[in-house]
Amino acid sequence: MDAGDEAPTDTHCPYCALQCGMALTPAGGTVDVAPRSFPANGGGLCQKGWTSASLLDSPARLTTPLVRTGGELHPATWDDALDVIAARLTALQAEHGHDAVAVFGGGGLTNEKAYLLGKFARVALGTAQIDYNGRFCMSSAAAAGKAAFGADRGMPFPMTDLADADVIVLVGSNPAETMPPFLQHLQGAAARGGLVVVDPRRTPTAEQANVHLAPAPGTDLALALGVLHATVAEGLLDGTYVAGRTAGFDEMWRTVARYWPEHVERITGVSAADQRALAHRLAGARGAYVLTARGAEQHATGVDTVSAWINVALAHGLPGRAGSGYGCLTGQGNGQGGREHGQKADQLPGYRALADPAAREHVAGVWGVDPDSLPAPGRSAYELLDALGEPDGPKAMLVFGSNVAVSAPRSQRVADRLGALDFLVTADVVLSETAAMADVVLPVTQWAEEDGTMTNLEGRVLLRRKAIDPPDEVRSDLDVLAGLAERLGQPAGRFPADPEAIFTELRAASAGGVADYSGVTYERLRDGEALHWPVPATDHPGTPRLFLDAFAHDDGRARFVAVDHTGPAEPPDAEFPLQATTGRVLQHYQSGAQTRAVPELAGAVPEAHIEVHPDTAARAGLGAGDRATVESRRGAVTAPVRCVASMRPDVVFVPFHFPGGQRANLITNPALDPTSRMPEFKVCAARIVPAADVPAGTVSAPGSRTSDRQDKDGES
Ligand code: SF4
Repeated sequence: MDAGDEAPTDTHCPYCALQCGMALTPAGGTVDVAPRSFPANGGGLCQKGWTSASLLDSPARLTTPLVRTGGELHPATWDDALDVIAARLTALQAEHGHDAVAVFGGGGLTNEKAYLLGKFARVALGTAQIDYNGRFCMSSAAAAGKAAFGADRGMPFPMTDLADADVIVLVGSNPAETMPPFLQHLQGAAARGGLVVVDPRRTPTAEQANVHLAPAPGTDLALALGVLHATVAEGLLDGTYVAGRTAGFDEMWRTVARYWPEHVERITGVSAADQRALAHRLAGARGAYVLTARGAEQHATGVDTVSAWINVALAHGLPGRAGSGYGCLTGQGNGQGGREHGQKADQLPGYRALADPAAREHVAGVWGVDPDSLPAPGRSAYELLDALGEPDGPKAMLVFGSNVAVSAPRSQRVADRLGALDFLVTADVVLSETAAMADVVLPVTQWAEEDGTMTNLEGRVLLRRKAIDPPDEVRSDLDVLAGLAERLGQPAGRFPADPEAIFTELRAASAGGVADYSGVTYERLRDGEALHWPVPATDHPGTPRLFLDAFAHDDGRARFVAVDHTGPAEPPDAEFPLQATTGRVLQHYQSGAQTRAVPELAGAVPEAHIEVHPDTAARAGLGAGDRATVESRRGAVTAPVRCVASMRPDVVFVPFHFPGGQRANLITNPALDPTSRMPEFKVCAARIVPAADVPAGTVSAPGSRTSDRQDKDGES
């Protein structure tokens, strides 16, 4: 449907990985949103989706480029803004080398944007310093999935398959708040008494479960080992499947043999009886699924934790079997596609490895460059942010679709590093906390104003379609990259700005890769075909269910991976006796930069809160509604107390959508998983005190780039 046409345009929600179907009807500069029947959402939307159009004509919307002069951001023309960026990047690279410029992407970018961003970094800038915020969300499950199955696709089956399951085990997932329409896929298991939620908090999802297991934060790996032990010890192992379709059981068992359920009960707080009951429940099910999410992943042992739960699924013969399986619930809108097409530090399009000579040759051929000109893998997301402005780190950074000043761990350190850059550029729709620190801010289009593809949490490629024209002075991220590439001396046409033309190039770059999109076309998507990758030819029907015949390892077998429990990187102690964990609320998305600008959502949940057991609050001299401060070794966050009787007394919870002194990431621990390089967002040692008791200066102030720039201006 063309822009301006009054008929509805069928598209998808701008926010999470469920990518609910919605129809948009132009309505005087904005659009009316209506839910649409689509398998992911069955005609439902959550409050975020219903209100998503508010941002299109919001007063918070950026509508002109901004360039910082004299310490302040001032309106500028597009030509001036792009000229300034190209000149500064060229000068910094001439002085310090190609890696002086970093690029940071986002898991909400379309496939076309993620692809072009990776190409722009490697070809137009020649920098190795590119990564994206999906590193903070899905990389642990991706690494564990690749180790176990030889390939990573969040859910290797259509989510509608879940409806027939007897048992679904959700580990560290709270879809009742993150993606409410997803709950419909769990109702069958719930009705049959088989919905099991593993979460330290009694979340709204746990409230709906038949069984809620609440391990201490940072111990869900141990819980998986206990369930595995019970599976074997109680004679519940699917021996035929293990012998015929897997490898590595014996080595895995050498570790697990020590984790008898009573031992695991002492580590996790989950009773041995509950562990054995879960093993029996899985063994007795006609169809069963194990699904993990951020609660399992966001640990310094996140890959091992996911591997442990995959081991549970393998022991019961679930993966690669129709009606059963293992899956990861992706969070960000394009969390799946965003991790496939080259904005990761170590990756080329099609889920290819940047270090693989054959992959470099193939992709360089599509790009028309020498394979040897492509940089080596660079720093992972937190390591990149941590290096900004350091002597051997990047001097400039371009940020597309991410608000790292709020969303990165140890966020005061990250804000300080942003402030230490010589030059910061952001492309965004609102003046996020990161954009407010930038030297140049570029106003870019939103989902309803552009075409583009997304890949949802089940690996289905979707077409998000343009419903209205953007404001006059707003351009697509693709236009930004094309305009900069031209100014950086790239040949005409190497960086197209048309999404369909870019997708055609992406198809060629992905051909033959793990995530092969070569058979996906805009035409097929417009026709409504359900295409799950790999789709290796235009007459190929796609692959809704992976691994039914064989896993992606050369021998076709899945791998048990031997893992051990080590616990949180920062255990509680006398000084910081509690464990702080972070998460989401229904009304807000990611750093909240977009949803905090939607009046209905900001009105419903205007600020952070601190959730704690009433006894824990009382011991700290606090009651419901009092302002409290949660402190860790890295910083402090202050918000009103919410007393929740179902909370573990040793845990305090803070949502992470809020800025300033309410940034949950002021306290989080940047300890990284050694494989995925994902930070330990989900647990750190902490204490809670009345806000007034915090000595002056203890609560970290948000980073200020303005003052930093003024200082530098003054020095020069
Ligand atoms: S569940 Fe996710 S995709 Fe669906 S409406 Fe809500 S935010 Fe949008």
